[in-house]
Amino acid sequence: MKKTYNIAIDGPAGAGKSTIARLAAGQLGFIYVDTGAMYRAMALYFLRRGANLADEEAVGAACRDIHVEIRYEAGEQQVLLNGENVTGQIRTDQVGNAASAISKYPAVRAALLELQRSLARTNSVIMDGRDIGTLVLPDADLKIYLTASTAVRAMRRYKEFLEKGVDCTLESVEQDVIRRDEQDMNRATAPLKQAEDAVYLDASDMNISQVVEKILSLARERGLEA
Ligand code: C5P
Repeated sequence: MKKTYNIAIDGPAGAGKSTIARLAAGQLGFIYVDTGAMYRAMALYFLRRGANLADEEAVGAACRDIHVEIRYEAGEQQVLLNGENVTGQIRTDQVGNAASAISKYPAVRAALLELQRSLARTNSVIMDGRDIGTLVLPDADLKIYLTASTAVRAMRRYKEFLEKGVDCTLESVEQDVIRRDEQDMNRATAPLKQAEDAVYLDASDMNISQVVEKILSLARERGLEA
């Protein structure tokens, strides 16, 4: 069987993980696995039902009825929620915040763990998320902790929203970034933190191609190519 390699990228919201991971995966011939999209798909399920996200027991029990799958179309990850392709419906702030609210529940995390691990067992992957290097793929061949200052992350997200025509202010986006960091870093289950053996990359003063190049050179140093 062909050898597979795993690269884990963790970090806070808005650090550029998904753009960078997608580009680096393309260069290395790996698939890009966006685990945030899986949590977002689960969040969409609950939002559609108007569920009370604070009710851990009810959210946990409902996980039995949720089936998230990943498929690739023309190299792009598609997320299926109970058979429906919801890829185009999960990129809103409302879904992101709901994902952050439910992802602290162990039952929600357990529902996605095997899907994440099996993708990494059968493919060479760059997987991004919050707990990939610490919990999902503790034996990854390369771990990156990618971050940037709150101000830089807020400004990037603000510009993205403006491009999409979303009505918001820089202040409201920054507050949202701070709230999401606070929630993701301080939860009891799988908090966002740097794995001990992860390479720390602060991208505040780097552009996307500089970060991609840095990751590619770390990967090549370790002989990780498809
Ligand atoms: O990365 P993204 O913003 O799409 O993730 C949405 C939310 O899903 C995060 O704020 C986080 O709470 C949760 N998440 C997680 N573990 C991951 C990926 C995402 O808890 N591996």
